[in-house]
Amino acid sequence: MASTKQLLFLPGPVTVAEPVLTAMTRPLIDHRGPEFKRTLERMSSRMRPIFGTRHEIMLLGASGTGGLEAAIANLVEPGDKVLACPVGVFGNRIASIAKMWGADVEVLDTKWGRGVDQRALAERLRADTNCEIKAILLTHNETSTGVANEMHALATAIGKHPALVIVDSVSGMGATPFMMDDWGFDVVIAASQKAFAAPPGLAMVAVSDRAWEKMEKTRSSRFYFDLRRAREFAKIGQTPWTPPIPIIFALERAIDLYEREGDKKVHARLTLNAHAIHAAVTAIGLRLYSQPPYHSNTVVAIHCPDRVDASAVLQTCRDQGYVLSGGQQQLKGKIFRIGTMGDITRDNILAMLGVFEDAVERQGFAVDLGAGVQAAREAFKAGLHSVAF
Ligand code: PMP
Repeated sequence: MASTKQLLFLPGPVTVAEPVLTAMTRPLIDHRGPEFKRTLERMSSRMRPIFGTRHEIMLLGASGTGGLEAAIANLVEPGDKVLACPVGVFGNRIASIAKMWGADVEVLDTKWGRGVDQRALAERLRADTNCEIKAILLTHNETSTGVANEMHALATAIGKHPALVIVDSVSGMGATPFMMDDWGFDVVIAASQKAFAAPPGLAMVAVSDRAWEKMEKTRSSRFYFDLRRAREFAKIGQTPWTPPIPIIFALERAIDLYEREGDKKVHARLTLNAHAIHAAVTAIGLRLYSQPPYHSNTVVAIHCPDRVDASAVLQTCRDQGYVLSGGQQQLKGKIFRIGTMGDITRDNILAMLGVFEDAVERQGFAVDLGAGVQAAREAFKAGLHSVAF
């Protein structure tokens, strides 16, 4: 019989902790009133250290994609040369948005499974002697391939090139150290349903001074996602449009839990979860899709062996209450993706891995049953000392 209780091991949305869910049942408040103003101000100032910025963190009533579209609509004009650096589906998505807004998009190609090569980026920018490139698009953590870019190294590669740097950190923010200001990033976009472990519905956007200046001059049309309006309203502790108030309550409670655990401990927990999953899947003879040193700590991507039906494996896991993810677009049927974020314990992970091993074995792939769980248990026991990401 299929399980009715489900634990999400997706790369977002994630299993949300009880106090965060409960926060959504609070009576609504006036979004033009003083309590809401205090809430927004508190949340912006509490998220700043996570983003590594002194700038306002604006909340948009949208999923992560809305945040990406806002960044492009406000900064990119028809004909602008934009250098996109995709390493998977979501990098391609922001490149498509830029194209839709009329940008002349050049793609710096990277083999999927790897992060952007810092030397290739530096070289391309060095060749741009007339500074024709107006914006650079980066993905902090590429959810479709389980890849984390080395953001500090990419910031160094960009150096003093004047292009604005737009970073999709939807599935990365809060999971690894991030220094928006020190690294010279201009727009950074996050979302509520990933490492913050709140429900979906909010995008968070931070903008640098020079990006605000550029925005004043951008002629592209925008309305709902006009960040200048969002900034004007943020100054009076409001959002321009009616916000998803329950999700804001939930996100604030999720930030409480995040702060209580501490950012370093959250980073370490996610890294250890990912490491234990790596250990398990390699122990049963599967291969990781991402290549070192680019392994993400929020999502683990695993090759599905030939002759194994990925959707059948996922269905078996789902029937037992463990919801894992498959590949997207050209990776459909070719990989599994397992998220590490959210309110999941080590025991939950070990149980999920047991079900996963079993499901793979049922597909005729020879598995030494229990080997994966044992490897993960040892990884948890060894802690982070043995982790080389
Ligand atoms: N970028 C990345 C890196 C993501 O992981 C996602 C969501 N999986 C998005 C963008 C899009 O976010 P959303 O689904 O919230 O629109």
